[in-house]
Amino acid sequence: MSYILLIAAVLGLLNTYPLLVSEDLVFRSKAATMENSVSVMVSALGDLEGLTEENVTAAMTLAESTDLSRILVTDAAGRVLYDTRESDGAVGDYVLYTEVVQALSGNDAFTCSYRGGAFRSRAASPVLYQNRIIGAVYAYEYDVEQAALLRGFQSNIRNLSIMVGVLVLAVSFVLSRALTKKIGELLSAIRQVRAGAYSHRAAIRGHDEIALIGEEFNSLTDRLQKTEDVRRRFVSDASHELKTPLAAIRLLTDSILQTENIDPATTREFVADIGQEAERLSRISEDLLRLTRLDSGVLPPPLEVDVGPVLERVLRMMELVAEARQVALHCEEMEPCSVMATRDELHQVIYNLVDNAVKYSHDGGQVWVSLRREEDRWAVLTVADNGVGIPEEDLPRIFRRFYRVDKARSRAAGGTGLGLSIVQDTVKNRGGSVEAANRPGGGAVFTVRWPLAAEKGGRP
Ligand code: ADP
Repeated sequence: MSYILLIAAVLGLLNTYPLLVSEDLVFRSKAATMENSVSVMVSALGDLEGLTEENVTAAMTLAESTDLSRILVTDAAGRVLYDTRESDGAVGDYVLYTEVVQALSGNDAFTCSYRGGAFRSRAASPVLYQNRIIGAVYAYEYDVEQAALLRGFQSNIRNLSIMVGVLVLAVSFVLSRALTKKIGELLSAIRQVRAGAYSHRAAIRGHDEIALIGEEFNSLTDRLQKTEDVRRRFVSDASHELKTPLAAIRLLTDSILQTENIDPATTREFVADIGQEAERLSRISEDLLRLTRLDSGVLPPPLEVDVGPVLERVLRMMELVAEARQVALHCEEMEPCSVMATRDELHQVIYNLVDNAVKYSHDGGQVWVSLRREEDRWAVLTVADNGVGIPEEDLPRIFRRFYRVDKARSRAAGGTGLGLSIVQDTVKNRGGSVEAANRPGGGAVFTVRWPLAAEKGGRP
């Protein structure tokens, strides 16, 4: 609509302004020629002492201009002495034309108008004898030729405007129909996705901006669908993980309650099992809470933390557990590295990795830990073992929530399947990364990279 209104305004201007300008040009040229003719006649009469019908007629026969439609000569009172109109002439009558009145009061007068397909021009001037007004000459011209030219010009512009107008209307209609149709389709796709149909995609045609928006919308919906899938899987996995220990607790309590004359030793055993399952439940809920906190994106403010002491503390803590399994813990290298994080986060990451290395080692196995600086940019922690290793096809999946290669082994070792997800999310939140691989000699190796904290010298 606004486009059409704009074009209409332009066409309106095109139909009026040039015509007004050409009309004005004609008026000016008329004024010049008529004033000239009138002054020629005035000077022819200027020699006469007084104006009479006879001497005026005699003087005018020589001076009158044939281009004019009518010429009147009046005396000082406005009585017509000479009129070029033959039939119905005004000789002897008094004329009160504005121009004549103006001329008799001593001024030249000129008016021109364009009406009814003709230019009508009137000019009058006083006739003076020794500075005395003795009469006036009045000329009138009725010109249809120039008017016809102007009319032709006018109708050409009008026809052109009509053509342009029709074309603009048609093009606007077609374009706006096509545009509204595309936007309508996109809107309906957006509404369907909003209503929950995440698999719905917008149909894309052409390469215009609407198609671009459609593509962006589709990729947004892809992400939404993936997030939704992950969320659904997480909720179903989490409820499944919580259901298993709860079902075990249920079974154990039922057994105690329903077995008559149960001996105290069996009861103690069952209660101990219940305790273990409860502990498992609390571990899972703790891990879930930790993940939820990581997902929320609200991080505690980072501090410059020296990784070495945290690593030493974890190794000391793990020594007893490792000893029990006859696993040997080796700290190969420990370069001083500071990273921007919190002590708890570092502890959690190192603990989870070392705990896994011990858990998935064979009895009597070995675990190697090292902390190095890389390219003066990264603090690199590696935790390697010569344990069971990870099947190649499972490597990309082990960081997923609740993913476990060997469910039975993980459960037996008290695993929740969330440890590596927590490691990955924690490290990523501080701009780092974690990778898993298999050692050539058997066993797994995990490598964590944190950006080094900027040291006081300015270099990171
Ligand atoms: P879990 O609580 O089961 O240990 P994690 O998320 O810590 O869960 O680990 C996921 C899975 O990755 C484990 O179940 C295990 O199969 C595998 N895994 C992790 N660390 C090791 C390792 N050092 N050696 C072999 N397999 C490992």
